[in-house]
Amino acid sequence: MAKYNITQDYIDYGDSRSGEELQNVEYIVSHDTGNPGSTAYNNRSYFDRIQPLASAHTFIDDNYILEIIPQTEKAWHVRYNAAKDNTLFGEDANDAAIGVELAYGSNIDFQDAYNRYVWYHAYLIDKYGLNPDTDIVAHSTLDPQRRTDPQNALHQNGISWDEFIQDVKEVYQTEFSEDGGATEPAEPEVKGVSVELPLDIGDEGQFVKEIQQDLIRTGFPLPIYGADGIYGEETQRAVMRFQSAYGLHVDGLVGPNTLAKLKEVLGSSSPAIDFPLPDKVLSLGDEGEAAKQVQRALKDINFDPGAIDGIYGPKTQDAVRRFQSMYAALANDGIYGPNTRKYIRMELND
Ligand SMILES: [Zn+2]
Repeated sequence: MAKYNITQDYIDYGDSRSGEELQNVEYIVSHDTGNPGSTAYNNRSYFDRIQPLASAHTFIDDNYILEIIPQTEKAWHVRYNAAKDNTLFGEDANDAAIGVELAYGSNIDFQDAYNRYVWYHAYLIDKYGLNPDTDIVAHSTLDPQRRTDPQNALHQNGISWDEFIQDVKEVYQTEFSEDGGATEPAEPEVKGVSVELPLDIGDEGQFVKEIQQDLIRTGFPLPIYGADGIYGEETQRAVMRFQSAYGLHVDGLVGPNTLAKLKEVLGSSSPAIDFPLPDKVLSLGDEGEAAKQVQRALKDINFDPGAIDGIYGPKTQDAVRRFQSMYAALANDGIYGPNTRKYIRMELND
């Protein structure tokens, strides 16, 4: 019998999901989201909407094992310029591995999320004939200078990497391996649940419940029904009051703008929202709000652009050049354009 369901609710094609085929799954890269309290569906919504040049296949919290990119397609979960994956496995993680993210912190029940995370690793081990001792690798192992996951989330809850691997082996033995006692290997039930924005009257489910909890936390109570996971008239009225209070179009529907404002008010707005990046080309001598946006983003990723004054001067040009020099794919010309924008966006989201 299946122990957990896997929900396949794929994001649209874009920078996060190229649709490129993942030909062989040779290993698993274990991550945490690095964003305490952000649920599996919060992540899905973020990647679907913002489409950063970074992603992972599966996000796991205390309610969902949520695949947002099919296992047959590539996700962008480890930088290509991290060399360790090539040393260990002979191939870049993005080209040969499934990326699995643990959501944790705040209202997410750690034990429930962890159990699903362990189980899903065991399921992948079984499905692709992998070895749990050698074919599961932490993101922090592949990119030690920049990443601490998933040990960051595990250690906060008293679990070491080795204990995690032991737990995966145990679940693999008991749930999946025929000689380990399981009469039949567990086949997960796969459900294609789609929560399409905007949310409207009649929508139901975990995502609706989380939005209701967000409304309550931002001071828009639901006194009669509470966060019951059903988008009824009480929820609609609370959404309209929220929209009115924040100067949004008052239609009682939760679409991308209302969702983004909710997250902003909750103080969990993502860096992509905090750092808009201009779409145009900028070079030495340019001035204005667009130059300022580039400066703010550069500062956030520790490439000091000088004063945040909206003047694309020599210091800003130099910061862009230093940033570009990290990537073979970028011309080292100090000019901000679409390619540099893509990589800055990746850096901001990583
Ligand atoms: Zn990671």
